[in-house]
Order: sequence, then structure tokens, then C-alpha cells
Amino acid sequence: MKDIPVAVVGSGMSGGAVAAELARSGVPVIVLEAGPDSGRSHVAAKPESAVLADPGADADFAPFFAPAPGPHYDRRCGLRRRVGGRSLYWRGICLPIEPYALTDWPAAVRQRLGEPGGTGLYGQVWEELERWTGRALLTPLDDRESALLDTVRSRGYGDATVTPRSVRVLGDDPRGEFSWEAYSPVGGVPAASVRDRWPVEDLVPAPDGTVEVRAAGGAESVRARAVVLCAGTVHNARLLARAGHRAGVAVPGTYAIVDHLVRGWVAAVPGEGPVDASVLAVRDAAARSNVMVEITGTEGTGLLDVWAMGEQLPSPASQFGFDEEGRPHCTVGHSVNDREVLGRQRELLRALADALGVAGGADLAAAEDWPDFDTAVSRARRSPGRAAPYGCRLGSLDHESCSLPLGGPVVDDTGRVRGLGPLYVAGPSVFPRAGAANPSLTTLALSRYVAENVLREL
Ligand SMILES: Cc1cc2nc3c(=O)[nH]c(=O)nc-3n(C[C@H](O)[C@H](O)[C@H](O)COP(=O)(O)OP(=O)(O)OC[C@H]3O[C@@H](n4cnc5c(N)ncnc54)[C@H](O)[C@@H]3O)c2cc1C
Repeated sequence: MKDIPVAVVGSGMSGGAVAAELARSGVPVIVLEAGPDSGRSHVAAKPESAVLADPGADADFAPFFAPAPGPHYDRRCGLRRRVGGRSLYWRGICLPIEPYALTDWPAAVRQRLGEPGGTGLYGQVWEELERWTGRALLTPLDDRESALLDTVRSRGYGDATVTPRSVRVLGDDPRGEFSWEAYSPVGGVPAASVRDRWPVEDLVPAPDGTVEVRAAGGAESVRARAVVLCAGTVHNARLLARAGHRAGVAVPGTYAIVDHLVRGWVAAVPGEGPVDASVLAVRDAAARSNVMVEITGTEGTGLLDVWAMGEQLPSPASQFGFDEEGRPHCTVGHSVNDREVLGRQRELLRALADALGVAGGADLAAAEDWPDFDTAVSRARRSPGRAAPYGCRLGSLDHESCSLPLGGPVVDDTGRVRGLGPLYVAGPSVFPRAGAANPSLTTLALSRYVAENVLREL
């Protein structure tokens, strides 16, 4: 059995960031990743791999819940089981969690996060992302985004900014196709530290204060002085529940699962562009929602896509657990709070349709039917210039979080699991509340926080 100071389970957004931070501090680390090393470029960086963004086309896609519970967390919601995880698929949107949601986080974590532009962890990550992209994240990506920002501001949304994205436009490939990439922390992890096709199954705390990490099938194991679980919101809980049962430590029977509440509308507009233009038009604390105005170009036509993303609070209406074989299953629906957010989003979406001069705003306020995005796009193409509404099922945003909240019954406010040896958890799974912001800026910052705490205790 190999001895190692720190083992990180999972190599996605959180695992990559934790491992990169530990490696920067000179601590030997090993990253155990269930999936293969299918290359470390972002899927959009090569025209031939862009199709992998569709889970149905991606051999590395693995659903969270099988059979799918439907309608939420359906069979298209899951992990990308490969080195880099979903950090090789994301769109790069970087927003801090709003103060109204952070009030429910432990004070020590809130203070360490600080804010973008400050000296805390949000500030450090923001600076690193600006170094990587080679531009300030609040400057437009291109002329089209700049024009969209001017339009939105001139229509009564004077506080609008570009949507901060850690994205680099890579330009034309020889076939004339555009490509882009979003930042991935896995680039900062020494290649020799990563073991691929190493699905962790058991974590066994030893009396000497170490943890034995065993691969599925019992073929291999390593012994570590600290283990950081970065296997995603569902699988972190699965590994912990298994370790708890094995060690005789009480673990919860069910776990919260939270995604974002999204409704929007699309309208066909002239003009296709190489890369989506995205403007953050509204940040509404009362509606616990942000609204993005985007122009995307697909199949030869431009598409104006205006969407509100709201906070889902952890609640008994949205939970998962495990069957006797340890397979995850979930019961997910909208709570009263969720319905209130969705109701307020109607007004925000209607106001933007009216302000942007797109027909159909009044229908949005009364709409009963919020079909999926593809249906809305077909409707929009049949009636150019008219808003066609859509709604997203829970799970489809890939923002699942809040199963093992910091400062909660299972994980303390340093990220350490209570009563199970030197086991830590990182990633969206430890958010106490998700706010309306996309999770990854916070995931990257929190991964540094957990890494700091691991280093302190080693
Ligand atoms: C298309 C798309 C667009 C997105 N856009 C945005 C965006 O613009 N902004 C934003 O903030 N977020 C975005 N996200 C969400 C973001 O990517 C996720 O929130 C983030 O990747 C989650 O990080 P994680 O480390 O928890 O999980 P992941 O990145 O999924 O990594 C988990 C890793 O753990 C591995 N693993 C699981 N179980 C085991 C095991 N037992 N043993 C070993 N390894 C294991 C998995 O194979 C995987 O590699 C997007 C996601 C997708 C798919």
C-alpha cells in the first residue's frame, strides 16, 4: 500500500483546485479519478469535441440517478467521469454568491472568502482567472458583447455589466470554425499526481490517524494522512455514507440537493456570432434571481436568450438517499419557496421583453406552459421577433449542491467531516446555501479554503 500525505478523490472543478493548491504549497498529493484521462482540453477548444457538451454524445457521461426519477434530475443529469470532470465542459460564468445567501454561511468562511477585487479567496481566484484569460473579467469579450451591453443599459438597465466569464476565444481553426475554452484548475495539477481509472469505493479510518482509500474491486489502495472528497454533490455523500456505516458512525439517511431555478425566453434575431455574447442585466435580491441577456448563434440564425436564474433553498421537497445496494435515488420537486421565486421571475422576464422591444411579454406573465429549451427555440424560429418561453428542469443546470453543508451536522466549518478521521469535503456539495450565482467561482475559492485547513492540520 502506498503512503501519501494527501489523497484527493475526483479531479473536476473542486478536486483540480484542491490538488493544484496543495501542489503549489509543495505537499505531495495524489488525485484518484474514477474515469479515464481523455485529454485535458476544454470540449469547446476543438470543433470535433464540441459535440461532447451533449451528454448523449459523451462516452464519459454517467447519470447521477439510474433509473432516472423524472421529471427532475433526468437521465441527462450527471457526471463527466474523466480527468478534469465538468471543468472541461463549463461555460466559464464566474459570479460570487450574493450577500443575502452568504449570511447563512459560517462567519469564518464568509470572512475568508471576502469579495472579488478584495484580498480574500474570492479576490485571489478572480485575479488568477484574469491572468489566465488575459483580460479583466468585466470587459466585453468582443464587439458584439460590447454592443449588447450598450443596448441593455440604454433600455433602462443602467447597472448591467458583461457576465464575467473566464473564457478565452481561440479563433478560427483551419476549417473556419470558431472555438473557445474556459479555465480548468486541472491544468495546475502535475500530471504525475493523477491516477485515472481509479474509482474510490471505501474510506477506512485507521487507529494511527490515517485513512486507507480503497479502489472498487479492492484491487488497489493508498494510505493518506488526509483525504479530500471532491467527487461531486451526490458521490461525496455516497462515499461518506459508506464510510460512516463501515465505521459505525451515524450518517444522515437523506441529503438535500439543490439546483438553480431557471425560466427564460428566446426570440429569433438576425445575426450569428462566433461566441455567445452575455450580459448580466439584473441582480434582484427580492426575487433571489439574476437575469442574463445573451445572443447565441446556432444553425445560421441569432437567438436572443433572456433567462432568470434563481436560488433554490435546501428543503425536504428536494432530497436524495441510497438504496440497500448503495445506489443513489432522489425525490425532487418545487417547494413553496421555489414557486415564489419562479413567480417573481415572470415579472423580470416580462419587463425585459418589453424593454428590448420583443413581442409576447404579456404572455410570459400569464404563461402556464414552460416547455424545454429546444421546443422554445423551434417556436421562436417559427415566429421571429416573438418571445417563446422555456423552463429548465431541476438538475439540468449542473449546479447541484448543498448535500453536506459547511457547519452542518456532517461537515464542520473547516470542511472536515465530524468523527471520521482526517476526511474533508470540497465542492458545491459543502455550500450551506447556493444563492442565485453560478457555483464555480465559489467552488474554486472554497477549494483553497479547504486546502488551507488540510495543510494546517497535516
Ligand atoms: C455544460 C456545463 C456548463 C456549465 N457552466 C457553468 C458556468 O458557466 N459557471 C459555473 O459556475 N458552473 C458551470 N457548470 C457547473 C460546474 O461545472 C460544476 O458545478 C462543477 O464542475 C462541479 O465541480 P465538482 O468538483 O463538484 O464536480 P465535477 O467537476 O463533476 O468533478 C467530480 C469528479 O469526481 C469524479 N468521481 C466521482 N466519483 C468518484 C469516485 N468514487 N472515485 C474517484 N473519482 C470520482 C468524477 O469522475 C469527476 O471527474 C457547468 C457545467 C456543465 C456540464
